[in-house]
Amino acid sequence: MSENEEVIPVAGPWVTEREIAYVADAARNAWFSNHYEYNRRFEEAFAAYVGVKHAVSLPHCTAAIHLSLAAAGIGPGDEVIVPDVTWIASVAPVVYVGATPIFADIKKDTWCIDPRSVETATTARTKAIIGVDLYGSMADWSELRRIAERHGLLLIEDAAEALGSEYGGRKAGALGDTGVFSFHGSKTLTTGEGGMFVTNDDHLHQRVMTLRDHGRPPGDKLFLNTEVGFKYKMSALQAAFGLAQIERVEELIARKREIFNWYRETLNGLDGITLNAEPQGTLNSYWMVTVIPEPSFGLDKFALMDGFRGRKIDTRPFFSPLSSLPAFADRPASSAHMPAQPVGETIAKYGVNLPSGYHMTEELVQRVADALKQILKV
Ligand SMILES: *Cc1c(COP(=O)(O)O)cnc(C)c1O
Repeated sequence: MSENEEVIPVAGPWVTEREIAYVADAARNAWFSNHYEYNRRFEEAFAAYVGVKHAVSLPHCTAAIHLSLAAAGIGPGDEVIVPDVTWIASVAPVVYVGATPIFADIKKDTWCIDPRSVETATTARTKAIIGVDLYGSMADWSELRRIAERHGLLLIEDAAEALGSEYGGRKAGALGDTGVFSFHGSKTLTTGEGGMFVTNDDHLHQRVMTLRDHGRPPGDKLFLNTEVGFKYKMSALQAAFGLAQIERVEELIARKREIFNWYRETLNGLDGITLNAEPQGTLNSYWMVTVIPEPSFGLDKFALMDGFRGRKIDTRPFFSPLSSLPAFADRPASSAHMPAQPVGETIAKYGVNLPSGYHMTEELVQRVADALKQILKV
């Protein structure tokens, strides 16, 4: 490594002249009767891509999860089963609506919520399951659907990290009763900040349209609010950026898969590490290339990250179990159903996300892979 080598960032967008032209056009023209035109086109293109009836553009994915729960009337006294290992945004909205999150373990291969753990966690108070397609990997949607139907539960698919992934030929986000996406700057498709709610359910869609606009039914011009709601809207400037990105979605997903394949090829044959899984019948859009070294290397994720930092490579730790965080320390009931030795604990202790943004080239992937081998001393 030479002195003047630059730090390799962990994530980053792919911006072309198309995004810039659409945003410039929105800045000039997306006002007055045109103010929702870019949002409408972005929502239509997005719904068509995911294969759902309705899509609603929002300021972030957290809002989409909040609205999913609120639209279904979930509130105090209700329980919502969530994976213990995910980004906190998957779970914070459960607390916003006054319900209780109940943590379930994740699976060893896909790192997604384990349906057996969901079964164990189900009680008479359970109202919903939030499955998360972690780092692009798909949860066991047919099993989760079976449990949801048997107990009459709402199924929310947090596909924030899985745009373009597939399960049984269907796109991520189309497997739940509601699906939610994030367009944060680090995500597969970005609008800077942003999110999308999707559903095939007309009633949930109508509820979301009213709740996201301060309790105004769509079309209200007289400020006759029918209830107290929220204010969750995406600006036309962001929607213009998003429209350009969704028009390029095939190219975005192909590049994500190419980056993963570069890593897989160069790390192939390195014993004792696991990368993202792509089980039979699924397609992984590999939002974040993630490596889990075996405990026998004696390096937890923070030690591994230190090693990368010393080699000018930015990485991220695998999400820590939510049940282990100070944020949930006052909620002992939330992990009462967790197994004594959760699978998620080990994965979360050793896993690290490697640089996976659109700036990655085959040469940069090689530099990261060489660094990993040096750090692991293999
Ligand atoms: C990024 C992310 C979110 C939240 O997205 P925001 O747009 O930042 O609200 C939710 N869930 C998961 C799994 C995420 O990775």
